[in-house]
Amino acid sequence: MNCKEFQECACEIVDKRLSDERTQELLRHANVCPHCRYELQALQTVKTVLHEKVHRKSVPAELYYTIVNRAMSESGTSWFQKLFGIKLNPAIAVVVLAAVLVGAYSLLFPVASIADESNIINQSLENYQAVIGGSIKPQLVSNHDEVRSFLQKEVNFSVNVPKMKNCKSCAGVLSIFKGVKLAHVVYEMEGNIIYIYQANLDDVMKGDKIGLPENVKVALEDNKWYIEETNNKTVVLWQYKNTLCAAVSKLKKDHLVALLTE
Ligand SMILES: [Zn+2]
Repeated sequence: MNCKEFQECACEIVDKRLSDERTQELLRHANVCPHCRYELQALQTVKTVLHEKVHRKSVPAELYYTIVNRAMSESGTSWFQKLFGIKLNPAIAVVVLAAVLVGAYSLLFPVASIADESNIINQSLENYQAVIGGSIKPQLVSNHDEVRSFLQKEVNFSVNVPKMKNCKSCAGVLSIFKGVKLAHVVYEMEGNIIYIYQANLDDVMKGDKIGLPENVKVALEDNKWYIEETNNKTVVLWQYKNTLCAAVSKLKKDHLVALLTE
């Protein structure tokens, strides 16, 4: 841990976006480094003052992530290096990487047509790509249960955070696409990213804001899994309670399905 690394994450500590483990690691640096300790105190003071004096207005998720994205691409380091550190020991902490959201990504990389844009398979593939690119920060990195309850508070469908063997933590992000609330969960396992897009199944079946091709809907209505392999990526769609889940990964379909159903 050096001062630069600490300072890049200082805001995240104040905003409580990091896992306990990562927070402790950073605070240990602040304990021995007066300069960084001062910086952290200053940030905390600013946050408190803003909180007291300014009436906070929430901005649309799209806007927030557009800003985050720009800041990140200007700084040249990917957010996961900043948030998780680069000296990860994959054997001990299979830490998680990213999570992402459709809205912001679509703003930055406009897609061809509305139909393509609202197709959940396309959205999931784009988001997966954005996860790999490291363009968006997770809102919470923690264990399965905490990520689930964090996401669950904000959405009207059952959030599914599968417990995967050898994976202690994952990342969660919430977003809104054309007024539809979405939840995203991301895992990192042995260098592979597994991204899961989640939405209310009724919104998906209605199909006016987000939707799926007819053949996929038919498969889901029969309570079946829908699996598609495209460009070295596997897309798996399934129904979990009243939730549509769409997972994307480079893992082969058997491996991916096994992890999702473990
Ligand atoms: Zn320092």
